Amino acid sequence: MTRKNEPSFRESVDMMFNRAVALMDLPPGLEEKIRVCNATYTVRFGVRLRGQIQTFVGYRSVHSEHMEPVKGGIRYAMAVNQDEVEALAALMTYKCALVEAPFGGSKGGLRIDPRQYEEHELEQITRRFAYELAKRDLINPSQNVPAPDMGTGEREMAWIADQYARMNTTDINARACVTGKPLNAGGIHGRVEATGRGVQYALQEFFRDSIGVGKSGLSGKLDGKRVIVQGLGNVGYHAAKFLSEEDGCLITGIIERDGALVSDEGLDVEAVHNWIVKHGGVTGFPDGTHVTDGPKVLEEECDILIPAALEGVINLNNADRIKAPLIIEAANGPVTAGADEILRKKGCVIIPDMYANAGGVTVSYFEWVKNLSHIRFGRMQRRQEEARHQLVVDELERLDRYLGDAWSMTPQFKEKYLRGADELELVRSGLDDTMRIAYQAMRDVWHERSDVEDLRTAAYLVSIDRVAKSYRAKGL
Ligand code: GLU
Repeated sequence: MTRKNEPSFRESVDMMFNRAVALMDLPPGLEEKIRVCNATYTVRFGVRLRGQIQTFVGYRSVHSEHMEPVKGGIRYAMAVNQDEVEALAALMTYKCALVEAPFGGSKGGLRIDPRQYEEHELEQITRRFAYELAKRDLINPSQNVPAPDMGTGEREMAWIADQYARMNTTDINARACVTGKPLNAGGIHGRVEATGRGVQYALQEFFRDSIGVGKSGLSGKLDGKRVIVQGLGNVGYHAAKFLSEEDGCLITGIIERDGALVSDEGLDVEAVHNWIVKHGGVTGFPDGTHVTDGPKVLEEECDILIPAALEGVINLNNADRIKAPLIIEAANGPVTAGADEILRKKGCVIIPDMYANAGGVTVSYFEWVKNLSHIRFGRMQRRQEEARHQLVVDELERLDRYLGDAWSMTPQFKEKYLRGADELELVRSGLDDTMRIAYQAMRDVWHERSDVEDLRTAAYLVSIDRVAKSYRAKGL
């Protein structure tokens, strides 16, 4: 994609940050301290593969340590570079502050096309990368806790956790060195779906804010809204699936690497996803119309546009042709600073990345806490609930005896009442609460301050203020 006069990703994030701090009253120097990335480590390492040594380049950037550990994913992609990891690390700082996950911001990346390697080769590469990072405390339960990002998932996190544990055999908290692990390696229910689930909860909360909905020019509820999603990876797939299956949205467009599918009647997300898994793309899918120029579909009419793939896909080249009145940034940085300005002037409402995709790190926080507490998440709460509910159940039983046939308590009802919250329920409700509370913090700034035009600036104001407070409280 050729982008004229477009700043880099990191510059774009800085420009958005600057718009917000211009409206704040920060002490001199603190603004600069918060904006800059504290450190970026670059590592080049060799792995012997297929009879010869191959050299890989990886990064781990720490943006802000106002809280520790610092947190953020590790990305595997050919486009990984220092500018990108630094931009993503900065977004992690603001994201964590916004959803009150007590972490600083970090991000890592490895320049690799994972599809070119066999599983055992990826394991070798990942373990070596993890070794290089762990050796410098860039993977550590109390200092730096990675997680999945584009091109990585549970499998890579399990290798990283195991590599760290081998290097730190006496660390009882070793499992908390990385999140997004599989369940049998210390993971938590609901982490895989978490980012997509967060996008769903974010939209549900947005549609409870009638003033916000009005600002976008939309009306009514989420039910029946026409949605175009770009990228049916982990985030886009879960967001589109939940929105169509649970909220009555119509997925009228799905954009993938090899083109897009469009259908006015709505696409079956599960069927498209299965097709992609089997055939590697959307080409040949029997329903809907295939469009060869995928990115062009970003410009189609719809109610909600969900870019859930790469950064910079909505930029100076296409922003003025985007028709969606509401964009929710499921990906990190999908709208450039220049495009953001054009869209804002057109009245388009953008639910910003640092809020929209914060579901992942929120549930990562639950996983980290679960690992550190060494107890199944929900177990304590369950005991408490049981004790509380027992009182109610005794009462119900008395009623049962008294009313007899006129009213009877089914064993299922009793069972449900007593079961308490299991882990998945706890995770989902904790995530829902988090997304609601964070939205309300942004919303208040957005609606109450006449100098704040958009949700992104509101989000930055809330999070920068929290980071500044934390620096002030503990010193630099
Ligand atoms: N990579 C995800 C993000 O960009 C998740 C980070 C985490 O769970 O630490 O937010």
